[in-house]
Amino acid sequence: MLAAAPAACLTCIMMHHARLAGNLLSRLADIAVPPQCLMCDALTAEPGACCPQCWRKLHFIARPYCAVSGRPFEYDAGEGAVSPEVMAEPPCYRRARAAVIYDSASKGLVTRLKYGDRLDLAPWMAQWMVRAGRELLEPDVVIVPVPLHAMRRLGRRYNQSAELARHVAKSCGLDYRPQLLVRTRKTRQQVGLSASQRARNVAGAFRVPAEARAGVAGRNLLLIDDVYTSGATANAACRALIRAGAARVDVLTFARVEPTATEALYTA
Ligand SMILES: [Zn+2]
Repeated sequence: MLAAAPAACLTCIMMHHARLAGNLLSRLADIAVPPQCLMCDALTAEPGACCPQCWRKLHFIARPYCAVSGRPFEYDAGEGAVSPEVMAEPPCYRRARAAVIYDSASKGLVTRLKYGDRLDLAPWMAQWMVRAGRELLEPDVVIVPVPLHAMRRLGRRYNQSAELARHVAKSCGLDYRPQLLVRTRKTRQQVGLSASQRARNVAGAFRVPAEARAGVAGRNLLLIDDVYTSGATANAACRALIRAGAARVDVLTFARVEPTATEALYTA
């Protein structure tokens, strides 16, 4: 017993020195790598910002927009006005909101997060989502990311929507429950599909696992995805949650495709 004491102390001393060295390295890294623009890597004054050129290219979504789908309106149709698409075909979710219009500028950010291993972008993108989704982020809301299929997850290492969801939840002190929804079918990429093909592609692709039903029943859920394209994915995921007894589901995404956007911009 006595012989073991000096060895334990030596371990503590080594760990202490390793911690000091780690802190020093991280401080040196801050000095060596000054803050960069989230979109183009130009130097910026503070972390988590865009340079003025990139900032001007982003189109943040502000009122007026459809009270249900969040689709921007060209003119103010009054409080609670909804778009013709919503009137023709009411969505499964209650309300959807997004931070920015999906265009070549925001596509750059989404692509960097999704395929560029730039997880460091997620907390900043999530902050913009928190601002856009203020009215959805009520204290009893449970945050659920749109899941990837397990096979796709293997190929991609992480789910970008889950990263955004985790940071939205953390920033608002809300419950983050990625296990409440799974994707049971490996769907085709939505690229190049028409709206009806997209709906068919994701129909029945989501399921609430039996062991997660208690976490869904009667709860107010906020579904989080990176891009809202035609609403097909949001509706299919929402339908699975409502079927499992969710009280209501809202949707918050980083970007939103405008129906007039060119097909080449679609990625989700
Ligand atoms: Zn820039």
